[in-house]
Amino acid sequence: MNFVSTRRLVKPLTASEAILKGLADDGGLYVPEEFPSLAHLNINNISNYPEMAFEVLAPFFDKDKFLKTDDVAEICMDAFNFPVPLVQNNGKETTLELFHGPTAAFKDFGARFLASTMEKLIEKQNRKLTILVATSGDTGGAVAAAFHGKKGINVKVLYPKGRVSQRQQKQLTVWGDNISAYEVDGTFDDCQKMVKDAFMDKELSEKWGLSSANSINLGRLLPQSVYYVYSSYLYKQLYGENPNFIIPSGNVGNSCGAYWAFTMGSPIESISLAVNANRTIPDYIESGKYEPRQSIATLANAMDVGAPSNMERLFDLYSDIDVFRDFVKSWSVDDETIKRTIKETYDMEKYIICPHTACAERVRKDHFEGKPSIVVSTAHPAKFETIVEPLIKTTVEVPENLKVLLNKESNFISVGTDYHDIF
Ligand SMILES: *Cc1c(COP(=O)(O)O)cnc(C)c1O
Repeated sequence: MNFVSTRRLVKPLTASEAILKGLADDGGLYVPEEFPSLAHLNINNISNYPEMAFEVLAPFFDKDKFLKTDDVAEICMDAFNFPVPLVQNNGKETTLELFHGPTAAFKDFGARFLASTMEKLIEKQNRKLTILVATSGDTGGAVAAAFHGKKGINVKVLYPKGRVSQRQQKQLTVWGDNISAYEVDGTFDDCQKMVKDAFMDKELSEKWGLSSANSINLGRLLPQSVYYVYSSYLYKQLYGENPNFIIPSGNVGNSCGAYWAFTMGSPIESISLAVNANRTIPDYIESGKYEPRQSIATLANAMDVGAPSNMERLFDLYSDIDVFRDFVKSWSVDDETIKRTIKETYDMEKYIICPHTACAERVRKDHFEGKPSIVVSTAHPAKFETIVEPLIKTTVEVPENLKVLLNKESNFISVGTDYHDIF
């Protein structure tokens, strides 16, 4: 199977080539040339997540030069070693908890699949890699955790001093071994600029084998379609109907996975994107004019995106605005409503949700009440305890996976804003 750039100006690549490449040379994002059908799926086996992941993902690696069927199976077993529960809240209203991985957010799925895939690829090609990530919080933690101990790969994580939460900093700095954390005396933009400058320095980039693990990488997108296939079939089996998905969205990588699952033939009724006060997508649906903009800060900070990078992939599926409107629903939820929803959901259902998940829960309560629905829960509420606990007036229990991290010792190197400081 081949992957083409959304801009169609470079030649198609296989999955492993596209994963090592990241962004296409024409500035586009890699998407499947065609989508495999799920007709072959053995849906009696849907309780076994890694096996289901293999069934869904193997066709994308068909005829791949480097990764064979057995490799894909091993990658799935290695990457998806934690539970993916679909919990019932109320009648046909359910929640898909994607926060049981090592850093308690859904980014573990993409980061772990990417890490296992890259480790296998560079072993076969006998080379070494250095992954550079600038992070304002969650992505860096998931990437650091996923690549820790991977052979032949070093990771350099850059984060802005004093601008990540205590718990986030822990997730970036406890690893050691092949993971180095750099505390930059500057802003997130400075961190991003250092990464960009390093990539532009061709000599240095070649010498270190620089690569990125950011959210536009195909290796993060593909595994994010698996849990939509998995949970929609499971939902149908349990409730006899196709679910309406409601997804907390920022860069739209997670929801893009849902559209790919739908395109492959998963039993999905509809897909809705819940955004915070960053209204780029609902405004586009309303006006028909796409206007990316600066982001604004909200309580659901992992979704503070004004120019969603994966929109280019959605436009590739639905280029016509009327078709886009048929398939993409979107609502914006402001901070006051996020707070009210966290409180209401706890008071009425004794279920604790994070600020991101609260955006989706609001959309359900307002637009899908009593209908077959799956709210996608993107992070454990214990990661955002300073917001959640005052609202529900009780403490959020820290899950085992996070506790393990929080008890380890931090190590980081303080640097200025010159990229030479990290090499
Ligand atoms: C990254 C993130 C999101 C947004 O996901 P996108 O793929 O960027 O749309 C939502 N919630 C949490 C907790 C996240 O970390």
